[in-house]
Amino acid sequence: MSRTFTIIKPDSMRKKAEGKIIDILLSHGFRIAAMRATRLSQEKAGEFYAIHKEKVFFDELMEYMTSGPVIVAVLERDDAVAELRRVVGATNPQKAEPGTIRAMFGKDVTENAIHASDSDENARIEAAHFFSEEDYCL
Ligand code: ATP
Ligand code: MG
Repeated sequence: MSRTFTIIKPDSMRKKAEGKIIDILLSHGFRIAAMRATRLSQEKAGEFYAIHKEKVFFDELMEYMTSGPVIVAVLERDDAVAELRRVVGATNPQKAEPGTIRAMFGKDVTENAIHASDSDENARIEAAHFFSEEDYCL
């Protein structure tokens, strides 16, 4: 068993797609180890995406990620990081494999429905932005 971290992004919440997305995650064998709804402050979003600070799209990314509520969660299954990246699909929803969450719910490279950690180490770091040991039910 391993863990990964996800954010169901503001565009998914505006579409009321969070229930469908969670259902897809469960159908792919993920179990919810911790989950809550929240809203990212500018500061939190900036820390979370600090790696992209120099990118041309950073301001747009900040505006979008703070534009409404999100759901943050830690998910558990075998090979969780790679499996979630596969289920989520490519960053650009137009290029995402049919059947992936981004192909189904994403609009463009900014409004791409969901975040998935890209390594075990980043999953741990990202989860620690939102959860502490007592929050985990698994
Ligand atoms: P995420 O980290 O959100 O799961 P990702 O790992 O597929 O997405 P990253 O390269 O880490 O992609 O980019 C982080 C986020 O920054 C993307 O999800 C997207 O919202 C935004 N982003 C990435 N590239 C672009 C771009 N060229 N134009 C606008 N926004 C972008
Ligand atoms: Mg990423």
